Amino acid sequence: MYVISYTYLMNQSAFSEMLKEQFETQVRPLWPAIKGSLAKVKKPCTRRNCQACARGDKHPAWLLSYTEKGRRKCKYVPKDLVQVLRQALKNGRRLEALLCCFGKRA
Ligand SMILES: [Zn+2]
Repeated sequence: MYVISYTYLMNQSAFSEMLKEQFETQVRPLWPAIKGSLAKVKKPCTRRNCQACARGDKHPAWLLSYTEKGRRKCKYVPKDLVQVLRQALKNGRRLEALLCCFGKRA
């Protein structure tokens, strides 16, 4: 109740400044952030006489999908990056939800 009445008493620029500060406080911890998806896939290699490929097992790899200029793109990413990418994807979803939330208040 206090917050609501306080908000109404503020002028427009002070309210806008308050929103900006709230936005910055909430967005800053969400770095790194990306939008896309990560999938574990199995791909064949280029080695000749590879036992794993011959058995049909192939090799595990991580595929990152994202959209660039409206087009779906994919790229293989090193295993070492998987943990940070998972966090970045999680942050990206939080950031998106936050933007929707701020949209409602504008
Ligand atoms: Zn192979």
